[in-house]
Amino acid sequence: MQLYNTLGRQKETFVPARPGKVNMYVCGITAYDYCHIGHARSALVFDVLVRQLQHLGLDVTFVRNFTDVDDKIINRANKENRDWREVAQTYINAFYEDMDRLGVLRADFEPRATDHIKEIQDLCSKLIAAGKAYATPSGDVYFRVRSYEAYGKLSGRSLDELLSGARVAPGEEKEDPLDFALWKAAKPGEPSWESPWGQGRPGWHIECSAMSESFLPLDIHGGGQDLIFPHHENEIAQTEAVCHCHLARYWVHNGFVQVNAEKMSKSLGNFKTIRDILESYLPETLRFFLLGKHYRSPIDFTADSMDETEKAQHRVYLALREAEKALTREKWKKVPLPQQIADEWAAQPKALDEAMDDDLNTAQALGHIFTQVRIINRLLEDKNLRASEAGRDVLQEFLARAQQWNTRLGLFGQNPETFLAALRTMRASRKNIDMPRVESLLRERQDARASKDFASSDALRQALQDLGVSVRDTPEGQDWDLE
Ligand SMILES: [Zn+2]
Repeated sequence: MQLYNTLGRQKETFVPARPGKVNMYVCGITAYDYCHIGHARSALVFDVLVRQLQHLGLDVTFVRNFTDVDDKIINRANKENRDWREVAQTYINAFYEDMDRLGVLRADFEPRATDHIKEIQDLCSKLIAAGKAYATPSGDVYFRVRSYEAYGKLSGRSLDELLSGARVAPGEEKEDPLDFALWKAAKPGEPSWESPWGQGRPGWHIECSAMSESFLPLDIHGGGQDLIFPHHENEIAQTEAVCHCHLARYWVHNGFVQVNAEKMSKSLGNFKTIRDILESYLPETLRFFLLGKHYRSPIDFTADSMDETEKAQHRVYLALREAEKALTREKWKKVPLPQQIADEWAAQPKALDEAMDDDLNTAQALGHIFTQVRIINRLLEDKNLRASEAGRDVLQEFLARAQQWNTRLGLFGQNPETFLAALRTMRASRKNIDMPRVESLLRERQDARASKDFASSDALRQALQDLGVSVRDTPEGQDWDLE
């Protein structure tokens, strides 16, 4: 598999350090608020990467942390007059709820910073002993950036460049404006732990270096692009200054999510939490949308693009449902499949594999799924092929392939009938369609057709049409959908 490595800025063939085994660490959330769509994207990208590595037969150990002590958590707790632990636990629980709905698999290890205070302090002590860090009289510990020559290698920034933006805040006792905090002396009323430097708490960056220590060297370290600097740069410095090994061999970063072509921010009021979005769209629609672009490209969340995604998803599930229905036939004819269709059908799994192996190109993989749906629709529209043994084999394989897509991408694994019904309900509520009225009109029309009152049946079809509902008559009865 080819993976783009931020360290070196190029695609590289992925070779794990230990044959057959992969250690992967991804920076998780700071638990002070509900997860937004950017968190969803990051979680999904690495979820699909884990699935892909497993598909390649690798034994993956996946670590994703929770930052459960931090300024943002403490501020929120103070503002709401709650205990900071309770705030962190609330949003960790919410993370699980949201991610479970999106089908994100749990990590093998999900360490929390506050469970690793000892490891954090030990790493600080090691860094101080090595001359890479220092404690100040007031009990802060700082990393001595200039002592680590390779600083900037991940983000490609030079010390001069960094210096121009660096400031020493009032009260800070840094030797150099570039230095960053490993340990912070306790302020009154803040959570703190006893340490060799007095009461205090860890800085943010150090926790990941401490919690990834037992998994070194990491094969893959991941996170959003916004973590490249300073977070990941600092993690590298903290770990590599004392371990004399690489923190990680491959650095994988996912792109940003914008909302209506603007950067998402609380001040712009365009902040989209996962739970906001799932009031209007099904979880699998959001999952499909976020995997619809290559993970390194920026992605723009708009209602239109979500609606488009929903339509595409509808087509796939409709094909699955029609394939299931066609397979209930009992007698099959011996009609050969046209060679061109047979070839195109046979080529798709390899094409999909190649897309996934090419730096996890889920966008292209989805394209190959659509090609398969088009082949299936062509087959279903052809009376002879639909009833042929060769056609039956393709339809059966289509259903089997959909189960693989579910395993690899977390898509198209639901019961088609159930999914289409859920999609209909979701769209009806988004469009404010009066569902009880639609249902009663459908019942009336069914009765009219049963008593062969075709004039009423046509009038009712028109009434439904006016509500945005289209009706199709099939051998099994009325089939309807929103327009
Ligand atoms: Zn981290």
